[in-house]
Amino acid sequence: MKTLKIKNKTEELEIGKIVCVGRNYVEHTKELGNEVPVKPVVFLKPTSAIIYSGHEIKYPPFSEEMHHEVELVLLIGNKIKDASLAKAENSIAGYGVGLDMTLRDVQTNLKSKGHPWTIAKCFDTSVVLSEFVLKDDQNLTLDEEIYLNVNDDVRQKDKLNKMIFKPVELVQYLSSLMTLEQGDLIFTGTPKGVGKVQSGDVIKAGIQGVAELTVRVS
Ligand code: MG
Repeated sequence: MKTLKIKNKTEELEIGKIVCVGRNYVEHTKELGNEVPVKPVVFLKPTSAIIYSGHEIKYPPFSEEMHHEVELVLLIGNKIKDASLAKAENSIAGYGVGLDMTLRDVQTNLKSKGHPWTIAKCFDTSVVLSEFVLKDDQNLTLDEEIYLNVNDDVRQKDKLNKMIFKPVELVQYLSSLMTLEQGDLIFTGTPKGVGKVQSGDVIKAGIQGVAELTVRVS
């Protein structure tokens, strides 16, 4: 069982499933040579892949090209299915920042065969989570900046409002595909600037005024 740390709370919340959206920023979609999607691209990551700020990302032996992807992560606060926009909005309980670490060489190979991305996305330590803030304590305007630095070099930096599908639209759409439950996390896609990390790199990532995390690649 993996849990989530919430700012100013002593009790930790049990994490449910992790639903991820791909290609949700136009410039990132283009940098990987993909078409801008009409509907969000959806995949899952297992909770066994979760680590937290201060922990270490481990390079799996079956890849030589692990990429960083920094993302706004939504915390779902109550069970919804086929939600209206209002119910979708209401179900978003909080926010954090996360890394969707991706084995790009493996993913490119899988994509070329039309296979699922699972092997490229679900390896141990491929999910890095910050502490979360509750919506009641801090509302998100989407004017905030999301950023990721590797060894103090800025690699990703963009406004959250560049998302193609906004958080509430993503939650509404995902709830039409599957039941979302309390403790589920939604990764909302990464902005442009994804790139390779190497052993020894230190990654610092965050969302301005919301959350920050630091991890090292071992
Ligand atoms: Mg991603």
